[in-house]
Amino acid sequence: MPIDIAILGGGSAGLAAAITAARAGATTLLIERYGYLGGMGTASLVHTFCGLYLLREEPGAVLANPGFPTEIAERMIAATGIGPQRMGRVDVLPQNPIEFVRIADELCAAEPNLTLALHSEMTDLTHVPDAWQITLSTRSQQRTLHARKLIDASGDAVTASFLSKPTEITQPAQLQRPAYLFGIHGPNHLDDATRLHTAGLLVSAVRSGQLPPAILGLTFRSTGTPHQHFASLDLTGGETTAHYNPLDPDCLTALEIQGRQLATQAIRWLAANDPIWHHATLTQWPIRAGVRESRRWIGQSILTGDDLLNSRRFPDEVALATWPMEFRETTKGPKLRFPTTPTPCGIPASCLIPKGIPNLFTAGRCISADHDAQASIRVMGTCFATGQAAANLALASL
Ligand SMILES: Cc1cc2nc3c(=O)[nH]c(=O)nc-3n(C[C@H](O)[C@H](O)[C@H](O)COP(=O)(O)OP(=O)(O)OC[C@H]3O[C@@H](n4cnc5c(N)ncnc54)[C@H](O)[C@@H]3O)c2cc1C
Repeated sequence: MPIDIAILGGGSAGLAAAITAARAGATTLLIERYGYLGGMGTASLVHTFCGLYLLREEPGAVLANPGFPTEIAERMIAATGIGPQRMGRVDVLPQNPIEFVRIADELCAAEPNLTLALHSEMTDLTHVPDAWQITLSTRSQQRTLHARKLIDASGDAVTASFLSKPTEITQPAQLQRPAYLFGIHGPNHLDDATRLHTAGLLVSAVRSGQLPPAILGLTFRSTGTPHQHFASLDLTGGETTAHYNPLDPDCLTALEIQGRQLATQAIRWLAANDPIWHHATLTQWPIRAGVRESRRWIGQSILTGDDLLNSRRFPDEVALATWPMEFRETTKGPKLRFPTTPTPCGIPASCLIPKGIPNLFTAGRCISADHDAQASIRVMGTCFATGQAAANLALASL
């Protein structure tokens, strides 16, 4: 018996797709190469859900997309006791990757129609009559499975390479920069004054040659537990921005090693040189460095930055994008571009359907969008929404 819907990738988008499909009664398979779900939101320690809430001038966070995105926000708030926070003109929900993994486990365990295949990497894909033939490589064997519908929520449009289909990727120098996020034990509280003080210390250390300039991209955020914090280091991704390739294992290897070296140097330097940080230690490495942008599908239509800027709506829209375009093309911090009016942009179904390939859908950060639109739709709140929408499209075509 073929599976009704197989989903490649257990990040925010794949999790939303799998739970939506299974709850609707479809025999569902969720394929993930790591040992837990959540993708960048857990394996790379990205610790804030953005894009869950409408963009509003008035105070008070209002959820933008009903269904799974709303449910996961409620579950996260119940787990952490921390509600939405206003940051300038946007509302965000701090999330805890440990809780995200647990919530994902519980959601999957409650679905009898869902088979979760962790430690399983899709290594080939072909189209056979009426089904996708999927090759999964696991630690002990290669398995071949058949699914009627497939959702690519791999973040990197991985299935396109197996099918030799064209994809889109931004020029290396313009790609959103990668980052290395890690856990630390540090000062009891990280208030604005401590952050400012620390930034000043790091600038002086770089100026005096005690730390390398790459350290200047380092920022901190508290986990909500005393002394436990996340640190984030934006990196160029190569010798120069033009050398960054988020799909090249050599480039990613160098990135992981550089991230760990810089993190170690920075935290050891702070511990040795500042009384506030004197007990500081590293407590957690990510499973992988964070990649904001890589390969994307070319869909029946392409969402553009112009659509986002003008809050365009579409007759076939299946989700709302509410996050401003967040550009991270340098390591000097984000540049936000807001829509002309604070209203959401629709995401059409046609951006979740790769052009000319029946029975395939896509969700998450690799949907069909240009570089500018991807700067908005990549956030996890929107990935939950496109994951849910891709499942609904697959269900409707069963
Ligand atoms: C440094 C950084 C900071 C960010 N900050 C924020 C933020 O503050 N707020 C926010 O909301 N978003 C933020 N983002 C963006 C957001 O985290 C990601 O865009 C989002 O999590 C992507 O979700 P996804 O499900 O599309 O893909 P991913 O989370 O990348 O998940 C894809 C999954 O597919 C799996 N996979 C891929 N190929 C295969 C294969 N062949 N076989 C099996 N499994 C496979 C991967 O292991 C992975 O788990 C940030 C991203 C980065 C990198």
